[in-house]
Amino acid sequence: AVERTPLIAGNWKMNLDHLQAVAFVQKLHWTLKDAKHEDGSVEVAVFPPFTDIRTVQTLLDADKIPFSLGAQDLSTQDSGAYTGEISGAFLSKLDCGYVIIGHSERRQYHGETDEIVAAKVQAALKHGLTPVICVGETLEQREESGPTAVSVAQLEVALASVPADAEIVVAYEPVWAIGTGQVASPEQAQEVCAALREVIASKLGDEAAARTRVLYGGSVKAANIASFMREPDVDGALVGGASLVVDEFAAIVRYQK
Ligand code: PEP
Repeated sequence: AVERTPLIAGNWKMNLDHLQAVAFVQKLHWTLKDAKHEDGSVEVAVFPPFTDIRTVQTLLDADKIPFSLGAQDLSTQDSGAYTGEISGAFLSKLDCGYVIIGHSERRQYHGETDEIVAAKVQAALKHGLTPVICVGETLEQREESGPTAVSVAQLEVALASVPADAEIVVAYEPVWAIGTGQVASPEQAQEVCAALREVIASKLGDEAAARTRVLYGGSVKAANIASFMREPDVDGALVGGASLVVDEFAAIVRYQK
């Protein structure tokens, strides 16, 4: 069986300016001394706001801190007259390995459609960034069409033109569980993550399905991370609120199955 390195990803959203980010990353690094991310058995990634990325990149590099770095969004375009947009080319120059695409807050507040998400996935891959493709249903949609239909449909569009050998990460984030404290059960997360892995298999093939990490996100905390990590198709977590609290995020990274 293919070993998938668990990924614990902290989505800071619009929190921590670049000065606060320095203090935060240093404290997290010290709190995680000797944790399992140091031997590569778990990958830790932080997703700061754009204005922090240069600063955080410099700090990770200077202090040899083994966290991966990602952005929370990118433009569909490479460059040009797109006021306020950030190109994937800029992000890869800053050593970002990842970029979150299609977070429910972007879909909800910025009108991001499945087609825009698909175009952003293409832009990420073009610039050597690994897209963290977020999908998930609202409570209403879950009641109407069941637990898997919305996420499956969203991922099918996002993967439409993705080559089989592309490195991607998929995050199942039920909208009703984000920032609400209303966490999905491990069984609910497993059901949808397994369905998403089947989408990866049908679009990109069995090899891609076996190596691609599928994360759960939505009110993940130190107290519930292990229950998710025991599920066979959950390969990590995308963490929002709890990623802003050093001790809590460090305890998530240190989960024991
Ligand atoms: C998120 O927004 O990606 C998220 C999972 O948020 P929270 O952990 O706060 O629910």
